[in-house]
Amino acid sequence: MAGIYVHIPFCKQACTYCNFHFSTSLRGLEEMTRAIAREAEIRRDYLEGERVDTLYFGGGTPSLLHAGWLEGIIGRIRSLFPISPDVEITLEANPDDLSNTRLAELRSCGVNRLSIGIQSLVDADLRWMNRSHDAPEALASLRMARECGFRNLSADLIYGMPTLDEESLRRQARQLVSLEIPHLSCYALTVEPSTALDHQIRKNDFRPPDPEQAARHFELLDQELTASGYEHYEISNFALPGYRSGHNSNYWKGVSYLGLGPSAHSFNGISRQWNISHNARYLEAIGKGIIPAGSELLTATQHRNESLLVSLRTREGLDLKGFGERWGKQEADGLLEESQRFLEEGLLILEGSRLRMSLRGWLLADGITAALFRTAESGPFLPMGGMVTEGADQVSQDQPSQEHQDEGTSKYRKRKGHKRR
Ligand code: SF4
Repeated sequence: MAGIYVHIPFCKQACTYCNFHFSTSLRGLEEMTRAIAREAEIRRDYLEGERVDTLYFGGGTPSLLHAGWLEGIIGRIRSLFPISPDVEITLEANPDDLSNTRLAELRSCGVNRLSIGIQSLVDADLRWMNRSHDAPEALASLRMARECGFRNLSADLIYGMPTLDEESLRRQARQLVSLEIPHLSCYALTVEPSTALDHQIRKNDFRPPDPEQAARHFELLDQELTASGYEHYEISNFALPGYRSGHNSNYWKGVSYLGLGPSAHSFNGISRQWNISHNARYLEAIGKGIIPAGSELLTATQHRNESLLVSLRTREGLDLKGFGERWGKQEADGLLEESQRFLEEGLLILEGSRLRMSLRGWLLADGITAALFRTAESGPFLPMGGMVTEGADQVSQDQPSQEHQDEGTSKYRKRKGHKRR
C-alpha cells in the first residue's frame, strides 16, 4: 500500500495567510506538468513496486490544470506504478475554477474525490483572506460538484479569524451539513512568518487571531458536526461514515508515499525527502534528469516521535500494544507512565490498549506530544537490518519543512497550522 502526492505550484492570487510554495505567474504551467510526469518516470522505483491506493493533487491550485495536462500526469503515473483498481484520486480545487464542464472533465480524467477550498461562506471573511472567490461561488461549486456526481467531496473551512463570530461559524457549519458534504477539513487560522497577514498584523492593520476564540470555534465545530453524524476522526478532519480521506489516513498510518513536483515531500519508511521549493530550479534539474531534493535518514527517535505525533492526532489514537511490539515493552511502559499526568487531567484517555486525546487534549496537542517526545538519538532506523538507499541526487540544501501535503495535513503540521487552500 502506498500513495502518490503531486504538487501543482501555481495560484491565481496569494491568500494573505498562505505560506505554501506557489507562483502567481501561471507561465510554465504546462511545462511543469511535463516535468512532473518526467519526475515520476525517474522515480518509478521509489515505492519499490508497492500498490498505489491513493493519488492526491494538491498545491497551489491543481484545478488550474487543463484536462489534457491532468490526463497526461495521471496516464504517466498509471503506466509506471501498480495502481489499485479502486484508487482514490483526489484533486484540490478552488471554487472559481469549477463549472459543469470542468467538473465533467475532471471526472473523465479519473478524479473521484474533490477537495474544495471554500474556506468560508461569508464574503467579508473571504475578502479579509484575499480569496479569489466569493460566498455564492463557494456554495455554487459545492452544489455543482454534487450534481456532477462527486459524492466523495470535501470542503475546507477556516476558523479563528478576528472577523468571525460564533453565530456565523455555526450557520456555516449547518449550511455545509445541509448540503451533505461528507468530509470537512477545518483549520484554525495561523499567522505564518513573512506572509501578507503577518505583515498586516505587524503594521497593526489587523488584530492577531485570539487563541481563546479559536478554541471556542474548535469546540463549536466539534459539537455541531458530531451532532450531525460526522466522526471527528482527526484533529482537523470530520467525515460521515465511509468518507474518511484515504490519502491522509495513510499518512497518519505511516504508509510510504512519493511526492512529485516542487516542494513535494516523500517518505519510504526509512528516510524523508523534500523537493526544492523553486519552480525554475526544479524544471532545470528535471530537464537534466536530476531530482532536486534534500533528504534525511530518520533516526529511531524521530520515527518513534512521529508515530506518536500522528497517531495522537487521530480519533483512534495510539495502540500501546503495537507501540510496544515496535519499540519494546519498556518504551511502551515508559510512555504510559509519562502519560499519567495527562490522563489524570482528562487530556488523554486510555481505552483498552489505546491511548488517545480528549477534545480538550487536542486543543493542547502540541504541548502534550512535545512532553511525550524522546530527545536522545539512537542512530538511524533500519528495519530488518536493511541498507538505506537514496535514489535522489541532492542539488538542494533546502531544510525539511514541518509542513506536509495533506488536508490537514498535512502531515506533521500543528493543529493551528494546517493546510488552508
Ligand atoms: S491558500 Fe491555496 S489558493 Fe490560496 S495561495 Fe495558498 S495554495 Fe494558493
